[in-house]
Amino acid sequence: MFFRKCKKCCGKLVLVDADIEVDIGGKTQKVKNVPAKQCTECRNLVVNEYVIERIKQYARDYPADILDFAECENEESVAASSIL
Ligand SMILES: [Zn+2]
Repeated sequence: MFFRKCKKCCGKLVLVDADIEVDIGGKTQKVKNVPAKQCTECRNLVVNEYVIERIKQYARDYPADILDFAECENEESVAASSIL
């Protein structure tokens, strides 16, 4: 299922790098540079389930007050290529 339109107002969704807060085990984790879709009309933010799962994993692996999603993605790809 892929929603190209806002579920609230049917506005147009565009890709953005968002700053969001994710609830992880009752703790609020701030995350920046999160790939998300935002409605151009009502500003509703849509973050993929898969991305949320990555954030939860990164919060464990790279504890920080504000997690940088883009930086964690880089770290992961560097780690993956150094194994090869
Ligand atoms: Zn909307």
